[in-house]
Amino acid sequence: MTLFLIRLSGKHTEVSINHVLSTDTSGVAGCLMTTSNRPIAIAGAGLLGRLLAWQLLRGGHAVTLFEAGSLQQPAAAAHTAAGMVAPLSEAVDSEAAIYDMGMASLQLWPQWLQALQRESGENIAYQHNGSLIVAHPQDSAELLQFHSDLQHMLPGRGGFQWLDDRAIGACEPDIGAQFQQGLLLEHEAHIDNRHLLQALLGEIRRLGGDCREHCTVRTSAHAVDTPGGRERFDLVIDCRGVGAKSQWPGLRGIRGEVLCVQTAEVTLQRPVRLMHPRYQLYVVPKPGRHFVIGATQIESEDRGAVTLQSSLELGSALYTINPAFAEARIVEMSANLRPALMDNLPKIEVREGLLLANGLYRHGYLLAPVVVSHLLALIDGGELAFAATLGLAQQGENCRAG
Ligand SMILES: Cc1cc2nc3c(=O)[nH]c(=O)nc-3n(C[C@H](O)[C@H](O)[C@H](O)COP(=O)(O)OP(=O)(O)OC[C@H]3O[C@@H](n4cnc5c(N)ncnc54)[C@H](O)[C@@H]3O)c2cc1C
Repeated sequence: MTLFLIRLSGKHTEVSINHVLSTDTSGVAGCLMTTSNRPIAIAGAGLLGRLLAWQLLRGGHAVTLFEAGSLQQPAAAAHTAAGMVAPLSEAVDSEAAIYDMGMASLQLWPQWLQALQRESGENIAYQHNGSLIVAHPQDSAELLQFHSDLQHMLPGRGGFQWLDDRAIGACEPDIGAQFQQGLLLEHEAHIDNRHLLQALLGEIRRLGGDCREHCTVRTSAHAVDTPGGRERFDLVIDCRGVGAKSQWPGLRGIRGEVLCVQTAEVTLQRPVRLMHPRYQLYVVPKPGRHFVIGATQIESEDRGAVTLQSSLELGSALYTINPAFAEARIVEMSANLRPALMDNLPKIEVREGLLLANGLYRHGYLLAPVVVSHLLALIDGGELAFAATLGLAQQGENCRAG
C-alpha cells in the first residue's frame, strides 16, 4: 500500500490507495513512481492522451501512445470539439466543482501553451476575451433565467456583466444590430484545438514518444493488448474516452454535431452563445475566418453523419445572429461522442498497474489541464487539489486500513 498526501481545502489529509506500480512501493508521499525513463503506455491519443504523453515525455518518462484511428485525422471527440474553456457558461448546468476546476484550468492553459510554444515553436491561438451570451427579444426570458442561474450558482463571484445594444456593438460590431441585451462572461477562453492536437503530436514525436496509430487496444494491469499481441509496461494509462466502455460501467457517449463555416463577411472576437427555448447554439471563431457552430446534445451513441434537422437548426440559428452568415461556405459537418459517466463528472481510477481517466463529457478543454495534472501528481508526486471530485479521495477511503 502506498501513502498519498491529498490536499483538500488547504488541509493535508493522509489517505492510502493501492499503488499503481508493483515495482515501486517505496511509499514516497504523493508518488506512484519516483524515477524517470520507465515505460508507460497510454491508450487513446485524444485530448487527455496527448496532453499526458507530452507532459510525461517532458518529465523524462518513456511513453508509447496507442491510437485506434489516425493520428493526423483523429476520431477523438477532441478533434470535433469547439475548444471553449467556459467555466461560467457551464456552471449553470453543472456541479460547482466543474466551475472550480475550470477556473484552475484557465490558469494552467496559458502556462502550458507557452511551454509548448517555447519548445515546439508552435503558436496555438488561445483567446481570453470572454464569451458573449445573447438572446433575441422573444427569447429574453431565457437570458434572464441564465443570469439568475449564474447568480444562484456563483453567489458573489462576479465575472459577468450586462451589456446593452451599444455595448454589444462595441464588443462585437458585426452582431450589435441584432441584440438589445447580452451578458459578457469575462473569464472565458477558447483555443484552436485542432492546431493544439497537431502540435502536441509533433512534440510527442520529437521527444521520442513511440506513436502507434490504427492500433485498437485493450488495457489491463501493466499490459496493453494490441492486434499483434500483449505488450508489458510499468504503468498503463487508459484515456480511450468512449472506447473504454469495458473499463467503466455506466460510461456512455453523448452525440454532438457541429458545422464549420468560412466567411470573410463576419468577424467575431469571442464565442457567442444564443439562448433559445429548445437549444443553446454557440459560434466560436477560429483562425482562417472559420467558425464552428454547435452543438447538438443527444443521448445517443450514433456516430453517423449530421442529420438534416440538426444542420437546419444550427444553420438557421446562425443566420439569425447575422444574416451575412447566409453566404458562408460550409466546410465541414461532423458528429462525435462526448464520453460521460452517470453523474457527468470526470473520474480518475487507480488500479494496480493501471490508471484510468474518463468522463470529461462536454468539459474536455475546460478540465483537461486539471485532470492531467492529477494524473501526473499520482505518477510523479504533487498536489491533488481536486481529489474528491475526481473520485480519488473516495478510492483512498476504500483502501484505508492496515
Ligand atoms: C461536438 C462537441 C463539441 C465539444 N465542445 C467542447 C468545448 O467547446 N469545450 C470543452 O471543454 N469540451 C468540448 N467537448 C468535449 C471534449 O471534446 C471531450 O470532453 C474530450 O475530447 C474528451 O477527451 P478524451 O481524451 O477523454 O477523449 P477523446 O478526445 O474522445 O479521445 C479518446 C481517444 O481514444 C481513442 N480510442 C478509443 N478506443 C480506443 C482503443 N480501443 N484503442 C486505442 N485508442 C482508442 C479514440 O480514437 C480517441 O482518439 C466537445 C465534444 C463534442 C463531441
